[in-house]
Amino acid sequence: MRQRIHEADDRFREECGVFAIYGHQDAAAHAALGLHALQHRGQEAAGIVTFDGSHFHAHRARGLVGDNFGKRAVIDGLPGHAAIGHNRYSTTGASMLRNVQPLFAEFAFGGLAIAHNGNLTNALGLRRRLVEEGSIFQSTTDTEVLVHLIARSRRSNIVDRLTEAMAEVEGAWSLVALFDDAVVAARDPLGIRPLVLGRLGRAWIFASETCALDIIGAEFLRDIEPGEIVVAGPEGLRSLFPFGPTRSRFCIFEYVYFARPDSIVEGRGVYETRKRIGAELAREAPAPADLVVPVPDSGVPAAIGYAREAGLPFELGIIRNHYVGRTFIEPSDHIRHLGVRLKHNANRPTLAGKRVILVDDSIVRGTTSTKIVTMVRQAGAREVHMRIASPPTSHSCFYGVDTPERAKLMAARFSVTEMARIIGVDSLAFLSLDGLYRAVGEQHREPGCPRFCDACFSGDYPIRLRDCEEGRRETQLSFLQEENAT
Ligand code: AMP
Repeated sequence: MRQRIHEADDRFREECGVFAIYGHQDAAAHAALGLHALQHRGQEAAGIVTFDGSHFHAHRARGLVGDNFGKRAVIDGLPGHAAIGHNRYSTTGASMLRNVQPLFAEFAFGGLAIAHNGNLTNALGLRRRLVEEGSIFQSTTDTEVLVHLIARSRRSNIVDRLTEAMAEVEGAWSLVALFDDAVVAARDPLGIRPLVLGRLGRAWIFASETCALDIIGAEFLRDIEPGEIVVAGPEGLRSLFPFGPTRSRFCIFEYVYFARPDSIVEGRGVYETRKRIGAELAREAPAPADLVVPVPDSGVPAAIGYAREAGLPFELGIIRNHYVGRTFIEPSDHIRHLGVRLKHNANRPTLAGKRVILVDDSIVRGTTSTKIVTMVRQAGAREVHMRIASPPTSHSCFYGVDTPERAKLMAARFSVTEMARIIGVDSLAFLSLDGLYRAVGEQHREPGCPRFCDACFSGDYPIRLRDCEEGRRETQLSFLQEENAT
């Protein structure tokens, strides 16, 4: 066993997918399928914890769900009528097996497993206090703070303990928890990250997105409300609103990029919404061109909407190799650059001699756009007009979407004109924030009380960033690295 200081490469932020099922004899297999449908929300690691009426069983592994949970032997080792699962999409270095969720702990009242999508913005401060008071942390995830708060609560039942813990944390959480004998699903008071409720026969299902219900043939019942806690157990379903009435600030970036196009999120079909976003973009930012070409896959629905609105042909001028992961998952800048080349290729006969409108959902670091534009020009395109189906991403997300620090965001560093020059396009335009609001069905962005969290575009953070404000963002953690090589 080798111990070494593990420097601040775990930045306490994750994008993730969660799934839970209560009341089905084959709970683990359903959880595995649900997580497979949510694979886009996290590809680095996955885990499932089940409860069989007397014991908990867990399997957590780095890698894809299919690779780790596609084997019958693994599922057979996870018996029970209740299960929760988690897909992890972590940032650089946070790949220690002990960070893989669901987290599990033995408390005075029994076992509890917890899986979390989101990011707690006061986790570092709470962690420091808890450590000073004697808590011993096993992982570097913000989620573990909740585990310790639950353990220390003086309340008599687990749901009350969880509620008390949630009252102390700040940030975004859509979480599921499993204990003897119930499954709990909860959303932060602003409902930043998605979470839905479904039914399969007599079983209750909770999942980050409806695509995880579809894969197992479950019926979509409703979204879990912001600030709601739902308990599924032997007595059926119970809903609580311990934090009183709240006003939703759902993450608008889920519509732009993150959610799967076949999911219904907060009452809106993601694919249709993306097409409306593309149509808005075509109205706001037309360009003289022969073709509309998406940057696949994320730019496809918006490009369809753009092309239809502009009355231009939609063509697959760039072909994506589907056997390469998302560029962001690659740990280093070098690999990230390589990843873009591995992933996309220009379709020469379609592009040669054409004036092309390239549509992508967002520009973050600018890596993808720069590579793609070079490729499209090398394929003989006469003009390249880039259209982005969201406003400039000028601020980092602290609520669970993995965006780099602000200094690495292209839109935080350069004007649109400068970005156009760097990317190498004839013209570049972004959708306006009002245009994005119109596309999701709002008249415009209400100044002072917007309906969504749009902090990555506006810098208007609806939840305090306490750790950042108090200078705790880059806190370094000593950490035993024994499992890093597994
Ligand atoms: P970049 O190459 O850094 O400008 O990233 C932009 C590309 O990454 C776009 O094609 C987006 O579809 C995709 N993207 C945007 N946000 C994220 C995210 N949080 N995680 C992974 N990919 C992203």
